[in-house]
Amino acid sequence: MTRKITLLFLSAALLISCSQNAVTGRSQFKLLPESEMQSMAVQQYQQFLSENKVVSSSVNKDAEMVRRVGQRISKVVEDYYAKKGLSSTLEGYKWEYNLVDSKEANAWCMPGGKIVVYTGLLPITQNEAALAVVMGHEVTHAIFQHGNERMSQQLGTEVLGAGLQVALANKPAQTQNAFMTAFGLGSQVGVLLPFSRKHELEADHYGLLWAAMAG
Ligand SMILES: [Zn+2]
Repeated sequence: MTRKITLLFLSAALLISCSQNAVTGRSQFKLLPESEMQSMAVQQYQQFLSENKVVSSSVNKDAEMVRRVGQRISKVVEDYYAKKGLSSTLEGYKWEYNLVDSKEANAWCMPGGKIVVYTGLLPITQNEAALAVVMGHEVTHAIFQHGNERMSQQLGTEVLGAGLQVALANKPAQTQNAFMTAFGLGSQVGVLLPFSRKHELEADHYGLLWAAMAG
């Protein structure tokens, strides 16, 4: 009986956690509320910026370019979602675009639109159009909530068994680590994480569209 109830509870929780992405139509397994993801992102973003050298966009033309490209991409994304009647999907988004001084060739976007581009990426992208393709790719990971899917996979059983709040309260370090790993910022710095091919294809596909739409 207990087992039956547990199974019922688990399948109900799984049903609740599976939702369809309104843009791609793909079914996604997400355990964490987007608001929770965004508040974790704000915290991690602030911490990251305080621990790294942010290049000021008022004096540096590369940092200014990162902001300009980011603004144009986020604008077309918001317009597209508004046109499709999906603006609520982007609720809570407060876009930020920062260039950080680092040799690493990397860029990412956290839930809520918290973007970082590393100076080490710029010699590879070389120009504004290529930077737009990379930023479009990273923005897609965020707006399609790929990080939530990755975290849900990592924390899955624990969250289902104990409830999200309990899991977050009992294992803050593990939760934070799962969050950082989901965005390629985990403890394995320098190791290319095997992001799911599905996520990368989606990010490439839609990233190119946003970049093209942004001109
Ligand atoms: Zn990617």
